[in-house]
Amino acid sequence: MRRTIPVCEPLVEAAEISNVLECMKTGWISSAGHYLEEFESRWAAYCGMPHGIAVSNGTVALEVAVRCLDLEPGDEVILPAFTIISCAQAIVYGGGIPVLVDSDPRTWTMDVGQIESRVTDRTRAIMPVHIFGHPVNMAPVWELARKHGLRIVEDAAEAHGAECHGRRCGGLGDISCFSFYANKIVTTGEGGMVLTRSEAWAERSRSLRNLCFRSDRRFLHTELGHNYRLTNLQAAIGAAQVERIEALVEIKRAMAQRYTDGLRDCPGLTLPVEESWARNVYWMYGLVLDESLGFNARAFADRLRERGVETRPFFLPMNVQPALHDLGLCKSAEPFPVAERLGEYGLYLPSGLGLTEEEIAYVCEVVRSEVARAPLTR
Ligand SMILES: *Cc1c(COP(=O)(O)O)cnc(C)c1O
Repeated sequence: MRRTIPVCEPLVEAAEISNVLECMKTGWISSAGHYLEEFESRWAAYCGMPHGIAVSNGTVALEVAVRCLDLEPGDEVILPAFTIISCAQAIVYGGGIPVLVDSDPRTWTMDVGQIESRVTDRTRAIMPVHIFGHPVNMAPVWELARKHGLRIVEDAAEAHGAECHGRRCGGLGDISCFSFYANKIVTTGEGGMVLTRSEAWAERSRSLRNLCFRSDRRFLHTELGHNYRLTNLQAAIGAAQVERIEALVEIKRAMAQRYTDGLRDCPGLTLPVEESWARNVYWMYGLVLDESLGFNARAFADRLRERGVETRPFFLPMNVQPALHDLGLCKSAEPFPVAERLGEYGLYLPSGLGLTEEEIAYVCEVVRSEVARAPLTR
């Protein structure tokens, strides 16, 4: 019996280990040290942004970015229904109202054709979220932002190294957010970063990250901030990983090619795509089951688990979240049919950087045979 194939596992190499050892030996283990600056400047440069501010995780990166918008009560931010709760809660914590759009059935990112219908005189920003490594088509987003005077807060947590119209994700808006959680392409275990073009927002982000200590009078505070600092120990891992980003992306792309070759002619499945204007980094290799198969993603995941293949379900959309409904948010009567279908029928396959060719072949064989089996539920 083979081992269970995990959905994701990080790849740690010698460079990370020696950087971390250096921190341990020199005592620079807290939130000062040269790896922090190195990681921030290397990642910002890679994404084509002038400023990088490392924070504790991707969720708080979004919070800090939204705080920079200085939202007033009643201000609205447009985001996809199909995303992680971090996006919606950053808007709520920042004093704004999340306004949802449905998803594109091909790329699973926000349906950019719906954005304009959601713009009101209270709209302040659009939050595009690149999904599972595929970028949002930013051309219409840029156009709408210009036309209506909106800011763009980009969530690039799943799109390290991805490109849209030849430009790298994370450098496509006014401010962007990354996560470096253990399953992300570049990881620091837990970690995140805010990137921005604005000098003022960079300074504001640094201040919010560190309790808004004033530079002229240390223990005097004119604003309430947070302790969202990243440690030099974590940045030491990130600084080493940034150097290997292109190799990591190539591993993901080769994995995706093998899966697509193995599953292309399997009926009843929608596979990830790469639009002509995009570079998909396939952070996770997702599948959407056809409703005609007669079972949903949870039933399918149970079958795969029995055969040693670990999977994860897709996000459940923001319009079905009790935590938001209880605040009177995201409750609109209108349906989000694509996002809801993704939530019910979508799951992702093992996509770790250490996955072998044989493991991918085995997963494809299991997926094909389970799709072909008679349905468990009707
Ligand atoms: C992972 C992720 C986050 C949150 O990052 P954490 O570091 O886990 O807090 C935010 N947005 C998206 C799209 C993500 O995939």
